[in-house]
Amino acid sequence: MVKTTCCYCGVGCGVIVREDRNGQITVEGDKDHPVNKGMLCSKGMNLHYTVMDTSDRLLQPEMRYNRYQSRQQVSWDQALERTAAVFKTFIDKYGPDSVAFYASGQCLTEEYYVVNKLIKGFIGSNNIDTNSRLCMSSAVVGYKMALGEDAVPVCYDDIELADCIFVAGANPAWCHPILWRRVEAAKAANPDLQIIVSDPRVTQTASIATLHLQVLPGTDVVLHHAIGRILIEEGYIDPVFLHANTNGYEAYRDNVMQRSVEEAAAICQVPAENIRQAALLIGEAKGFMSMWTMGLNQSAIGVNKNLSLLNLHLITGQIGKPGSGPLSLTGQPNAMGGREVGGLSNLLPAHRNLENPAHRQEVQAFWGGTTISDKPGLTATQMFEALENGSLKAIWIMCTNPLVSLPDVKRAEAALKKAKFVVVQEISNKPETLAYADVVLPAAAWIEKEGTMTNAERRITYLPKLKEPPGNALPDAEIICRFAQKMGYHGFDYTDAAAIYAEHCALTAGTNIDISSLSHDTIKAARSIQWPYQQQGTQRLFTDGKFYTPDQKAVIHSFPDVNESESLSPEHPLILTTGRIRDQWHTMSKTGKVGKLKQHIPQSFIEIHPEDAVDRGIGEGDLVEVNGARGSVRVKAQLSEKIKKGVVFLPMHWGKILGNDLQRANNITSPMIDKKSKQPDFKYAAVNARRYVKP
Ligand code: SF4
Repeated sequence: MVKTTCCYCGVGCGVIVREDRNGQITVEGDKDHPVNKGMLCSKGMNLHYTVMDTSDRLLQPEMRYNRYQSRQQVSWDQALERTAAVFKTFIDKYGPDSVAFYASGQCLTEEYYVVNKLIKGFIGSNNIDTNSRLCMSSAVVGYKMALGEDAVPVCYDDIELADCIFVAGANPAWCHPILWRRVEAAKAANPDLQIIVSDPRVTQTASIATLHLQVLPGTDVVLHHAIGRILIEEGYIDPVFLHANTNGYEAYRDNVMQRSVEEAAAICQVPAENIRQAALLIGEAKGFMSMWTMGLNQSAIGVNKNLSLLNLHLITGQIGKPGSGPLSLTGQPNAMGGREVGGLSNLLPAHRNLENPAHRQEVQAFWGGTTISDKPGLTATQMFEALENGSLKAIWIMCTNPLVSLPDVKRAEAALKKAKFVVVQEISNKPETLAYADVVLPAAAWIEKEGTMTNAERRITYLPKLKEPPGNALPDAEIICRFAQKMGYHGFDYTDAAAIYAEHCALTAGTNIDISSLSHDTIKAARSIQWPYQQQGTQRLFTDGKFYTPDQKAVIHSFPDVNESESLSPEHPLILTTGRIRDQWHTMSKTGKVGKLKQHIPQSFIEIHPEDAVDRGIGEGDLVEVNGARGSVRVKAQLSEKIKKGVVFLPMHWGKILGNDLQRANNITSPMIDKKSKQPDFKYAAVNARRYVKP
């Protein structure tokens, strides 16, 4: 029996896994775990199926010498020596920026740490990014700009202490179910708990809300500014906190006063009285919490959406107190851990900044490798653009399936076709990306390796190894370390994952996320710990009103409220928004194997308002072609008054694993990104829909 953590979403539920003498695995929620207290959602309850079914597992490295050959099984030494030789050739000929690693928020912290160290500290490029760029980067930039640090101030226990929770652009009832059950339980225990939800769809989350604001996609900043204006006009601001702990209030006040609430209501397509009610619920709350995910983050103005929500906390002083503060919900299980080690193209370990020469020097001296480049690396979408234009020669893809998950995915596919060299490190033989791999490296899965993860409330947990990986699959960190040694680099001969973690912890000394006295053993003993850690973990940040900015004051930012997504047109008049369904995870390489999880929603669909459907001659269940400037998708119609007129919704999961290329939502998503965070705009693309008639 082992106690571990669920490997799906960023809630980070504790799981007990047992294996009997016949190798049968069972899972149950850990009643002693502070996050889930024994509960698991449908995905968590079915974790054992994904582990027991090894029929799709990659068992042996594979390699080919050119694109006309099929891959052959080879030894680890052959695969890694050839990969090292190709990487060295490109680096010698074109420089270190000719290679890149694209990793995943599902990697363990130790895995993130070694790959980040390899590319930044030894290869000499910052070309590492992860699929966390697709889900969290706008929140990261928002926190840094407003609070001085990528640091979630609150803890989950604040849910039970809040009396107003604003859920903005998120459907945690489906995407973070156990956290939402805590909200539901808090509501049952405290009927005075007010829940505000802003979402273009009436989701299950919205169904228990005091107030649902059915906002038009792209208008969240207008909404938040209007709420801010009312909070100011009605005297709900905290002048003492504003004066002592913030900068920028006057400019913000002048900014939000430029648009009347009625004007804002017309833009957001939300009644003005509902915006007023939302402001009053927030203003009257003793404890005001907000939660958000992709509706704010995945936008061409994702950072501004984040900042406009953070501003509501700052002007009311609702931060750093029990029951109040912003909680960005993390999509992936270890997006937070990845950022701790600096695993994005613009970060350095322990939240150090790449642009800071002193930070680069500290890390370089610690690692003892090459000079750390001051040039930011390529971000997720930029990597594929660089493959397309030929400036990037080789890409190593770890634990993610970009040919379903990237926006404007056909362009990404064309880029992989053009790439000179593609390495795919994977557990399954199913992901689309494998079709373009020159080298395939079989990786160990959950419970086949050990390491740590950090959930959305900064809680670090240890994940033990329970069983050996099948075939010759290896833990991801070991694969990277073996490769680094083939490249001739020192400092990758760790004895185990604990040694990697010890090095990561040592590098955090003196930073805002200091965990330098932590170790695997400390975490095992405590079961979980929230960073920063000095003798004990930290539940809440900023309790003294001091922020991580140079003058210790939070910054209230001012900016225009206009959306910068692509424009609608007579040809493409509908707004496409994409998202998750309850029982599937990302591109289905794990949840797609579980029969029970396919029952909830067995096939992809387009959710469309009945009036939009009638206008187009579309009936319930009709096969519909959804087309945009970049391609089309063909799925069944689901008519629903729960979606705003003029908006259509497609689930993000489908690709070849359970369907086909024509069901990939990202065939038609927008290539636009937020200028500051480089996060793609999955929530706003111009499309149209028509009943599909076979030619
Ligand atoms: Fe796993 Fe998230 Fe479900 Fe918890 S809520 S069991 S972490 S998928």
